[in-house]
Amino acid sequence: MAANKEIPYKIYLEESEMPRQWYNVRADMKNKPAPLLNPETLKPMTFDELRPVFCDELVKQELDDTDAYIDIPEEIQKFYKMYRPSPLVRAYCLEEKLQTPAKIYYKFEGNNTSGSHKLNSAIAQAYYAKQQGLKGVTTETGAGQWGTALSMACSYFGLDCQVYMVKVSYEQKPFRREVMRTYGAKVTPSPSDTTAVGRKILAEHPGTGGSLGCAISEAVEAATSQEGYRYVLGSVLSQVLLHQTVIGLETKTAMDKYGIVPDMIIGCAGGGSNLGGLISPFVGEMLRGERNYDIIAVEPASCPSLTRGKFVYDFCDTGHVCPLAKMYTLGSEFIPSPNHAGGLRYHGMSSILSQLYHDGYMTARSVEQTAVFEAAEQFARVEGILPAPESSHAIRVAIDEALKCKETGEEKTILFGLTGTGYFDMVAYEKYNNGQMTDYIPTDADLQAGFDRIPKFPGNEI
Ligand SMILES: *Cc1c(COP(=O)(O)O)cnc(C)c1O
Repeated sequence: MAANKEIPYKIYLEESEMPRQWYNVRADMKNKPAPLLNPETLKPMTFDELRPVFCDELVKQELDDTDAYIDIPEEIQKFYKMYRPSPLVRAYCLEEKLQTPAKIYYKFEGNNTSGSHKLNSAIAQAYYAKQQGLKGVTTETGAGQWGTALSMACSYFGLDCQVYMVKVSYEQKPFRREVMRTYGAKVTPSPSDTTAVGRKILAEHPGTGGSLGCAISEAVEAATSQEGYRYVLGSVLSQVLLHQTVIGLETKTAMDKYGIVPDMIIGCAGGGSNLGGLISPFVGEMLRGERNYDIIAVEPASCPSLTRGKFVYDFCDTGHVCPLAKMYTLGSEFIPSPNHAGGLRYHGMSSILSQLYHDGYMTARSVEQTAVFEAAEQFARVEGILPAPESSHAIRVAIDEALKCKETGEEKTILFGLTGTGYFDMVAYEKYNNGQMTDYIPTDADLQAGFDRIPKFPGNEI
């Protein structure tokens, strides 16, 4: 490869270089992620059991541990071409500001109206729902990026889209809500009285601002109680991680073109889809014994599932209507402190990433939100992009690592995922700018309360 070619600020790919297949990293994993379990029988969920909830093709993808490459249907490729390839940016300005010998690259996924990587999976999930002749889909959204992406994807295919939005976000982010409605989605604050599980949660916790786990339970109920509807999820599931591998595949092709090999790959981790998507092709090389990378998942100190959670089977939702997944979890009833503004508030983690982490293929770090916003501000001022708070977790660690290189003189190549923009997060930025942002790290006792609610059965001891 032309290793000495001068590296441009932005590396784009030609359309002809865009991926035509997603890469399923599970195929190369010796220790496969544990299967989803039926909470009643404690047996692996079968295709037929999952069909009432998810589209058939997506169930196949969810259960597929063996096919390394899965074709991206033409229509999805076409949609991808509207806003992809996303740029791989050499952060020359940040490097100069930090006076670091490190070479920093980021893959920017915020160049579409939804403002994040979530559209990569939303369009795939909407496509399969349409193919199956469904009327519509239901989902939950926390910060709003997923709901926005899904409403865009559904309007493209003429599908009905029903979004349960965590009540605090619904109230704090009216503009997110209106973008979704502009794309034709019906948005309901969760918990709501439109579902049995919502009414139950409201009766037990009157006045609650809701949580992602609650909203998932409501959306699943809405899907399974309406003819011609299925449920879709924007993170955590293996199918979502699969669709997000378009990020890593493009990155790898772009880097290969210039002979760039990252030493370190950093990403923020909520449910794990962007990080999993970014690292998959690189982890594939590690799994096949071809190369090694230093991979770091970054999570909020206020929702530390990898760094402080337990690797056990747990419910994916608060209402316990979903299957059990084996993952690093804080317990399905864990809700981060209300002062937490930075997103990434899901209690669990992708079972693929959980297994890779457990097997030592990656490490994890937790960071406090004031430090995250400090990094966000520093980045915004030199790189010209206002980052999402979620993405800024990765920026924090990328900057920390670049500063270490400054001390040691090492010229490491650092790659991180910049998952989105923060235009709808100005309440959080305002808090930071006013010096009113505080850090809350849960105590061991706080976490224990969540662990106590993890289901106990033989083989699932904490
Ligand atoms: C949803 C979201 C995340 C976290 O989700 P993952 O599944 O962990 O990738 C990160 N960044 C942005 C901008 C998001 O919208």
